[in-house]
This record gives sequence, C-alpha cells and structure tokens, in this order.
Amino acid sequence: MSNVPPCPAPVSVSAATITPQPPAASSPVSPATVPPQCPAESAPVPVRGSFTVPLITGGVFTESCPSGCTRDHALDARGAFLEDLYHQFGEPVSTTVPVFDAGDGTAPMPILAAHIQVDPYSSEARLRVPHVVLEPAPDDVMECLDPVELGAVIAQVRAHCDRLDGVLARLVAARAEYEGA
Ligand SMILES: [Zn+2]
Repeated sequence: MSNVPPCPAPVSVSAATITPQPPAASSPVSPATVPPQCPAESAPVPVRGSFTVPLITGGVFTESCPSGCTRDHALDARGAFLEDLYHQFGEPVSTTVPVFDAGDGTAPMPILAAHIQVDPYSSEARLRVPHVVLEPAPDDVMECLDPVELGAVIAQVRAHCDRLDGVLARLVAARAEYEGA
C-alpha cells in the first residue's frame, strides 16, 4: 500500500473550529507525545476524498472530492469521460406510491426523487455549481435545478397537494351523498 499517503496534517480544519482540550491531569502521556489520529495501519481504509479515473479519451486523471461528497466513485475508477464526473452531496430523497402495473401488479413507485450534485468539468456552467437533479417519476429527469427553480417546483407540488385535498373533500361528500341516496 505504498500509495497510501501518510497521515495528513489537519490543514482543512479552521483554527476557529478547534475546541481547545483542557489538560488531563491524570493522563499518563504528555499531549505532545499523542500521535495524530490515523487509521490503524493494520486496517487501512480508502481515502474517500481522492481517486484516479482512467479517462476514456486517454490518460489518467486524479480527482479530489469536495467537502461533503458522499458519492461512491468506484464506477468512475473503471473509466469515465471527464465531463461526466460528478460529486454528490448527501443521499437522495424520494417517496413512493403504490402503482398498479398489468405485468408486475401493484408495486411501490418512487416519485419526486432528488439529490444534490456538482459536475465540475461539465461544458455547461450551470452544472459546474451544486444543483439538484429531480426525478418526478422513474425515467423522467429535471437534471439541473438551481435554488429558485427548485423552490418553484416545490411550490407547484405543494399547491397541487392543496388541490388534492379538495378532491379528497369532494370524494368524502360524494360518498356520503351516494350512500344516502
Ligand atoms: Zn466525490
């Protein structure tokens, strides 16, 4: 594992965020002798923040994840176009509704799935900053929503839920009238 870098200095941590540790009077070792916190050498873990990509167009590219990236880049490590590289922030969110299909029967179908990503080498400037990818339904995608655009979609869906509340109220009334007739 000669490519495993030595334990990095905590350069990414702002000094303002470091909480001073009070001296432990009973500590058997001086704080100066405490080694930096590194993964145990017997159990090296992959460095999540950096990976190499064999480019389909030729060459190898080393990419570093931005802070907060949660994407598993294992697929990228098999080969990719530089333009297609993206980082993801957090896990996708979605909900499901039971939808009937003549072939498969009733099964949960994800709707309104969303996640945040950034495509740092895209030819489109909109994709080179964090944006939301929203899938209203499977195989349908809105691939780049900025905060204003996502807010508009949320407002539209919320307004539609209000209309569905109206449908619900009318359904209850229709049943009462139907059964009372
Ligand atoms: Zn990443």
